[in-house]
Order: sequence, then C-alpha cells, then structure tokens
Amino acid sequence: MSKERVKNFFNIVRVLAIFVLLITCKQVRKATDLITKPSARELYARNYENDSVRFPLWKKSFESSLKDSLSIDLPYSETGTYFDELYRTYSYNIELHKGRTFFVEIQTDTVGKKVFIDLYKISKDSLGTIELIESNNENAKSIEYQIEDSGMYKLTIQPEIEKTSSFSMRLYTRPVFGFPVAGKDNQAIQSFWGAARDGGQRTHEGLDIFADRGTPIIAATDGRVSSTGNRGLGGNQVWQRTGIFGYSLYYAHLDSILVNSGEKIETGDTLGLVGNTGNARTTKPHLHFGIYQGYRGAIDPLPFVWISEVPQFESYKDRIETPVISISGSRANLRNRPGLGGAKIGKAITNDTLALLGLTDKWAHVQNQEGMKAFVHLSLVDFTNAKIK
Ligand SMILES: [Zn+2]
Repeated sequence: MSKERVKNFFNIVRVLAIFVLLITCKQVRKATDLITKPSARELYARNYENDSVRFPLWKKSFESSLKDSLSIDLPYSETGTYFDELYRTYSYNIELHKGRTFFVEIQTDTVGKKVFIDLYKISKDSLGTIELIESNNENAKSIEYQIEDSGMYKLTIQPEIEKTSSFSMRLYTRPVFGFPVAGKDNQAIQSFWGAARDGGQRTHEGLDIFADRGTPIIAATDGRVSSTGNRGLGGNQVWQRTGIFGYSLYYAHLDSILVNSGEKIETGDTLGLVGNTGNARTTKPHLHFGIYQGYRGAIDPLPFVWISEVPQFESYKDRIETPVISISGSRANLRNRPGLGGAKIGKAITNDTLALLGLTDKWAHVQNQEGMKAFVHLSLVDFTNAKIK
C-alpha cells in the first residue's frame, strides 16, 4: 500500500472505532454534550425518558423534594437503604459559611449504584428561590464545593430508579485555609471577631491566637508576601496576597519576620515567630490574624481556619430490610430537624406507618403518607416491620 492509502486506511479504522465506541456506550451521548456538559442526572434521565410509568414518578419525587424544608446541622451522617423503584429524594436545608468547603460523600453497597447530588443556593429575599450551583459527576457519589456566599443552601440526593442498595452518607465542612500557628488549634483562639477594643470605640477585626513567644507562624494558604514591616498597632507584620478570590491575609505582633516582600510562599511555610510587638506590648504573645477582601474590607477569619470534626461513615450493619416503620408511643412529634429543638411540623399516632428514609443518631428520617418528610425520635418508633438486620 502507498503511504497515502495506509493513511486513509487508518483514518477509516479510526472512524469505525469511534462509531463502535459510541454505539456500545451504555449512556446516550449527544454531539452537543461537549459544549453543554449535561449533569449526571440529565444523562441518566435520557435512558428513561420513554418509560411512561417509572420516569414520571422519579421526576415528580425530585421536583417535590425541592419544596421540602427539613434542616440539619453539620457534621451530619445518615444510613439507610435506597429501595428499588420507591422514588425517594432526600432533601436538606443547610446553613453554610464563606470560608468553608462543603463535602457530601455517599457510599453504597451495590456496585454501580448511581446517586444524584445537587446543591442549590436559596435566595436571601422572602421568595426563597433556589439556584442550582453544583452537581456530582456521573460516576462520583460526592461533591466538594467552596462556599463564597454565606447563607442557606438546599441539598438534594436522589438515587437512581433501579437497584436497592444500603447507603451511608456524611456531610461536613472544612476550613478553606490551614491554621496559621504551628502546633495550635481552635483552643488557642482567645479573642474573636467583633470583640470590643479601646473601650468600645472600635471592634476587633480578626482573631488572636495565643502561643509561646517564638512559636512559628505559618502561611494559612499559598500566595505571595505583599509587604512586611514594623508599623502601627500591628507591630512586626506580614501581609500575604492569595491567588484565589484575592484575599489579603494579615499576620501581626510578630517577634521576628522571616520572609521578604515579593516572596512566593506555600501553605505551612514559616513567615515569622509569635511575639507581642505593636499594641500587644502589654498582653501575652499572640498572633493577630486578619483577612481582608477588596471593597468589603476586613471579614471574619474564623470560618476560614476553624478546625471541625470529619464524621466517620456509619457502617451498614443496621441494614434496613423493609421500608416501613410504625409508631409505638401513643403520639409522636414529627420535627423539621433531628433534635428536640426542631419545630413540630406534624404528629403521628400509635400504629401509624411511616416510610423510613434513614437513621441519624437518635432519629429516624421518615416520610408520612401525605408525602411530608420529618424526623421522629427513635424511642417512639417500632422497628418490627422494618426488619433491621
Ligand atoms: Zn487582635
């Protein structure tokens, strides 16, 4: 074969290979997918669009879950079972803060079980409209999202139509930055944002983190030293610019400065040593740590550095075999949060049956026959029908 013919031959093979790949691919792909990047939910829905029985029920469950108003605090974990063709959607309202990264992680015991995770921002006005801001990738049962706007968010989790599977889920946040004093943690923060200063004439625009003189002060994130010097209230100070979202980080009262202006620094690099220079002369050595953002000026650094617990995945040992529980007490309050502080949004009486969505600590996550979701305390629940293995 001539060179030209060999080239043509390989071109034909390539086209055929792509064609075979396309038709053997289980998911329905569209030429526009590369541009519009459909979510995992949209890709999945294409397989069922012609299923006039199951698909509308699945879709309706999701749409009505957007109107649910159960609230949870983080960290949160829940275990339960996603039942085949029961069309349940889990929905939670969660308050999230700028300076945190939000994590949703789900494990399932059935291989290939698909789960769709969507995060919405709830508007601050009285309308409470929602806007989709993040969805999971097709093969991931997790999302990770850095919060830029403090407020209320809605999380929905919907399993695929088929395949019963146990699940274990954990939701938590982590600080966007590292802790700025070596070997220290939350305990060392002894003065917070907003505390009165100069007899109430001004408020504290940062955090005071106490440590022995000479303890290393470390970069809370990657960036560049924008200035250093000894001036004003802060005494020996280091200013750092970050690439992301343009924060300025302020480290003050240093005993000594160990970096130079213009230097590139990475998280954990030593910037200087804890001291009490500037207006901290009369107090014990500590780092004053501040964060400034453009026109907003100083913002509360606490969410950016506060270390919080990452919950364990609960095991599947209490696998729930059937999807229904009943009420054992004469009356049980249905609450909008898993805690006695949760608002009472309904009640159930002896022998009422409730669909069981999952278990979280001392509470069952349930749905009543009118479709309302709620939490009910485990002491009021009869699991005889639930056949927990
Ligand atoms: Zn301070």
